[in-house]
Amino acid sequence: MTLTADTPASTTLDLGSARALSCRECGHQTPLAAEFACPQCFGPLEIAYDFPQVTRESIESGPKSIWRYKDLLPVPADVQSFPNTEPGFTRLIQADRLAAELGVRKLWVKDDTGNPTHSFKDRVVAVALAAARELGFSVLCCPSTGNLANAVAAAAARAGWDSVVLIPSSLEQAKITTTAVYGGTLLAVDGNYDDVNRLATELAAEHEEWAFVNVNVRPYYAEGSKTLGYEVAEQLGWRLPDQIVVPVASGSQLTKVDKGFGEFVKLGLVDEKPYKIFGAQATGCSPVASAFEEGHDFIQPVRPDTIARSLAIGNPADGPYVLDSVRRTGGAVGHVTDEEVVEGIRLLARTEGVFAETAGGVTVATAKKLIEAGKIDPDAETVLLITGDGLKTLDAVSAHARPTATVPSTSKAVREALEGR
Ligand SMILES: *Cc1c(COP(=O)(O)O)cnc(C)c1O
Ligand SMILES: [Zn+2]
Repeated sequence: MTLTADTPASTTLDLGSARALSCRECGHQTPLAAEFACPQCFGPLEIAYDFPQVTRESIESGPKSIWRYKDLLPVPADVQSFPNTEPGFTRLIQADRLAAELGVRKLWVKDDTGNPTHSFKDRVVAVALAAARELGFSVLCCPSTGNLANAVAAAAARAGWDSVVLIPSSLEQAKITTTAVYGGTLLAVDGNYDDVNRLATELAAEHEEWAFVNVNVRPYYAEGSKTLGYEVAEQLGWRLPDQIVVPVASGSQLTKVDKGFGEFVKLGLVDEKPYKIFGAQATGCSPVASAFEEGHDFIQPVRPDTIARSLAIGNPADGPYVLDSVRRTGGAVGHVTDEEVVEGIRLLARTEGVFAETAGGVTVATAKKLIEAGKIDPDAETVLLITGDGLKTLDAVSAHARPTATVPSTSKAVREALEGR
């Protein structure tokens, strides 16, 4: 076949089993391209697939990264031949000591601090980079509350691409350092995340070689979060959990974990069974939790004010779809104060040896609250998604994490200090 200028883009692209872009609202389909809004109704576009035959065995024989699921992602078949960060296949730990503290029978922690830049954002960025390359982009960009900035700057560095990262100027110093170190252009913007996001949308329209991972290539990017759902199911021994608690910023991750579970059922990789999805937010930025509590289908945007900056999106794009997933499965969306977030971080650290950032504190503290409220069943199995590393938000706990004592270098002084504990 000869390709002519007006051949639809999707016939010339290798994006694996991805077949088209499909509108979440009206179902209208358009060819695979760097589009994110439906040309008919402006609804968000999602990837539609023709999945090939995959088996537990074919997945298990794949690499120990998200690329073991590459047949279920919008990436080229040869995705591994191009330098990328190879995130994923992080550990799922049985959290017996935390379970005992929370009064539940069986609890698991999915520890996504183990990714290359220490948050789940490496998953979505790796997929966005692979798709963006196939779509003809050459610069990797994002507006970010921090973790995405790290992941984009690192992935671009590894791929030899330029990057342009936009952050609110008030961001934690640690997240600025851990982005700037990878090189690339880092712009601190006066304003909050929602201002930065608006600016990114404007810039994406002006620079056609710039792939803003979470704006103009968002349908591809978002699919990366499915791998969290896939991995939880595979690591539980090819079955779905009863309940899962997911932190909510834009809400993309939560909806894609749900989508991932559903695809595994459809592909016959796990047995169908009921599961409940719970969302977790910080009270200082809880527009989805508010809508859930008030029984609304729409999200009233808020001005964020919380230490959980990685979740501080006041106008969450996927908020309504979070409500759909949570209500359909019989879950809930809870929220916790900044003090409870700090307590959640400390509780997880002292019971399981996992040091999470504030988003992890939100997840643990919200789980605690939902257990106490009787919304999470203590007798059913629960998975907590711990999506980012505490080393990036040291300020949150530094006041509580001090030496037990400062002593002279004598055993007598140590004895006295131990007695005085
Ligand atoms: C971005 C982020 C989230 C939430 O992601 P959304 O898909 O936007 O809801 C959760 N945890 C951490 C650590 C993040 O950086
Ligand atoms: Zn539409």
